[in-house]
Amino acid sequence: MSFFSTRGGACATTSQSILWGLAKDGGLFVPSMFPKLSLERLSLLCGKSYQEQAARILRDFMEDYSIAEINEAVDAAYTADAFDAPEITPVRSIADDVHVLELFHGPTLAFKDIALKLLPHLIRLAAEKNDEKREVSILVATSGDTGKAALEGFKDVPGTSCTVFYPYGGVSRVQELQMVTTGGENTHVIGVKGNFDNAQTGVKKLFGSEAFHEKMNAIGKLPSSANSINFGRLAPQIVYYFTTYTDLVSRGVIRMGQGLNFVVPTGNFGDILAGYYAMRMGLPIRKLICASNRNNVLADFFRDGTYYTHRTFFKTMSPSMDILISSNLERLLYEYAGRDPELVRSWMQQLASSGSFSIGAQRLEEMRKVFWADYADDNMTSDEIRRVFDLHNYVMDPHTAVASYVLKNYRKQTGDRTPAVILATASPYKFSEDVLRSLLGEEAVAGMDAFACAEKLQEISGVPMPKQVAELGQLPIRHDTVCEVDGMEEAVLSELNK
Ligand SMILES: *Cc1c(COP(=O)(O)O)cnc(C)c1O
Repeated sequence: MSFFSTRGGACATTSQSILWGLAKDGGLFVPSMFPKLSLERLSLLCGKSYQEQAARILRDFMEDYSIAEINEAVDAAYTADAFDAPEITPVRSIADDVHVLELFHGPTLAFKDIALKLLPHLIRLAAEKNDEKREVSILVATSGDTGKAALEGFKDVPGTSCTVFYPYGGVSRVQELQMVTTGGENTHVIGVKGNFDNAQTGVKKLFGSEAFHEKMNAIGKLPSSANSINFGRLAPQIVYYFTTYTDLVSRGVIRMGQGLNFVVPTGNFGDILAGYYAMRMGLPIRKLICASNRNNVLADFFRDGTYYTHRTFFKTMSPSMDILISSNLERLLYEYAGRDPELVRSWMQQLASSGSFSIGAQRLEEMRKVFWADYADDNMTSDEIRRVFDLHNYVMDPHTAVASYVLKNYRKQTGDRTPAVILATASPYKFSEDVLRSLLGEEAVAGMDAFACAEKLQEISGVPMPKQVAELGQLPIRHDTVCEVDGMEEAVLSELNK
């Protein structure tokens, strides 16, 4: 299998696409085909461990990795040390037809751990395969959770370094502390005086800049990406759609072949795109429900087929979804454009020059056979956290609650009662102030910091506080660099030259 750029300019092996992150023409790497997994093969996965299923599913995408390499990488990533649940991504049933896929049992308490524990191994192997002697310098823009997950994944991995740009003042206190207290000799954290889109656009510009590549080359470094624009980030996320399905079949909740809906709290469109890829591989998914917060650019897009970014950017209590430019949508557009890179390129040019593009009624109709989209603002999210706790005695973080709210709306509007899986993308302990405020009201949390809120949350919910949160207040701050939006290149070069 080879990889194409969505903008037509490149063809690469799997390991090259993972090593380079983004194609040189600015496009995203997409697999030349979707390997199929028949229902018979899917049945064989039932009852297997997460690691075994992961290795089996990834294998077909990774032709220039040996089966032994994939097995080793998967076993090294998904250890009992790093994940506090033996299932890695346990599925909890909170009602007969509503299941919650908990993706937050890794080191940083958010779903990005699933991909970012594996990616460094895939990159290290890719460097070997391509005889790459330079240090692979990962550059990451984060809306809050990717940053810490990338830092933890790459920390002290030989032959790599990891530099994270986060919107200064635009992430939760716990998220910021998690990042700036990171250890390791090869980790760097830089606050950018702007929002996530500024940081992401800045990183994309660096990748697109020949001059930057030359400067990096001169100091023996190859820039690469750990954002979900890297196929190596996306592939590990395909796995848990399959393991959820086989788990529900094994438990007799659904029968093999029955359709399932997935509800995905969405920002950069990576997680939900992995679900789309799983569907293309043959997993019986009926609907992929795209849930946004008040930054509802995707909900609008799936309603009228126009992607429109000239709008107000809102800070919400689900900061990892505070995004107006969803990079991975480009991969979906590529599929619905009939894999025509010219068309994708023209849409992306319109987006860059005028802030919007339209895909036309016919393509929209096709997309809406698979996708359904809506959003929840902060009040709705807050109410949903309380409703789910009162009704099901289950605590959701704000991102997960956005999805839960959108599912409720979906069912009301369509009457579709297909069993649904809500992707729980973060632990409620990562956002304990907002969660507690939602559960107990404003007065109850007055004067309490994140740690006091976490204590209280543990008391009322009975869900044990993860040790990562308990420890956080004690760790020393190790990173304090801040830069302007147009000073990112200088900042990263100076960090890497330290
Ligand atoms: C990153 C993130 C999301 C959004 O995922 P995308 O792949 O960017 O759509 C949702 N919830 C949490 C907690 C996240 O960290």
